[in-house]
Amino acid sequence: MKVIAKYNDSLHNPYWKFQLGPDSYEVKDTPLRVQAIKRRLQSDPDFTLVTAGVFPERLLTRLHPYHDYIRDTAASLKEGEEFHPDLFPGEGANLPRRVDIPLQGGIWCTDAVTPIMPRTYEVARASADTALTGAELIASGSERAVYALCRPSGHHAGPRVFGGYCYFNNVATAAEYLLNKGRVAILDIDYHHGNGTQEFFIQKKAVFTASIHGDPVVEYPYFWGYAGETGVGQAAGSNHNEPLPLGTGAAGYLEALDRVIAVIRRFDPKYLIIAAGFDTHAEDPIGGFRLAGGDYREIALRLAALGLPTLICQEGGYNLEFLGDTVHTFLRGFISPRPRQ
Ligand SMILES: [Zn+2]
Repeated sequence: MKVIAKYNDSLHNPYWKFQLGPDSYEVKDTPLRVQAIKRRLQSDPDFTLVTAGVFPERLLTRLHPYHDYIRDTAASLKEGEEFHPDLFPGEGANLPRRVDIPLQGGIWCTDAVTPIMPRTYEVARASADTALTGAELIASGSERAVYALCRPSGHHAGPRVFGGYCYFNNVATAAEYLLNKGRVAILDIDYHHGNGTQEFFIQKKAVFTASIHGDPVVEYPYFWGYAGETGVGQAAGSNHNEPLPLGTGAAGYLEALDRVIAVIRRFDPKYLIIAAGFDTHAEDPIGGFRLAGGDYREIALRLAALGLPTLICQEGGYNLEFLGDTVHTFLRGFISPRPRQ
């Protein structure tokens, strides 16, 4: 399987202001995550590392109204600086062009834990290019399943605002690219609901979006991810949420997965994109599910059985001890699927 990657990722190491200790929520998105995954995959000869290509800026600007804000703010910062918005004027604010670019942060960003640093734009764009390279490979027909080792994650970045450690929505950008060739289904298996991705396509019937995640009553992103969010207008029925309770283990998870798979089959897409977060692991410091290593093989086998060209994009997953093995187990399910009965 081809593994698309770009940087060794040390360029984007936010939260230095918040490094309060090993249990600090804010230190979890570290470059060590990518390094752990890469190291594990490189130890298996069935995986080949491919450097991501460079795609036109317009593939990002057409989807993300805050593209220029991220680019220009990053360019305005000196080495070691980190910008967090702390003013959130809300909808309806009168935003004259003369306002300093970093001040616009509260218009475009939903929180204060998704900082911009001098290299943030470059790295976020490379992360989207990583997904686009994977999309190009499956669109060409040369690969059946491809893994894009994206970082930063993208699924909380939406068509109005970004946040939740995410800058550009990698899977949404890849889906828009693939739409020229056929209908796309996106399944988000990160522990957190893919609110940005859902918002991109909630009114678009050519893209089916689904997410299996911790119940937003008690988990981020709190305001999205409920079962009643099923699509708007013409796109009614094109979104499917499976909010699951804290402590969900393999049995409950796989039942939800089977329900989602049945809906994907009915939608009959040409391509499948998986927003693959691994913070569903029992040992993850953020997630509240109880999945174990071997469960990821079963999840992968059921998804591989859909028989669709599949782009797998990395999202969350924060336990450095288990992350490499978990990703590896999951991807192996696509390399050596269960023989047909
Ligand atoms: Zn997550």
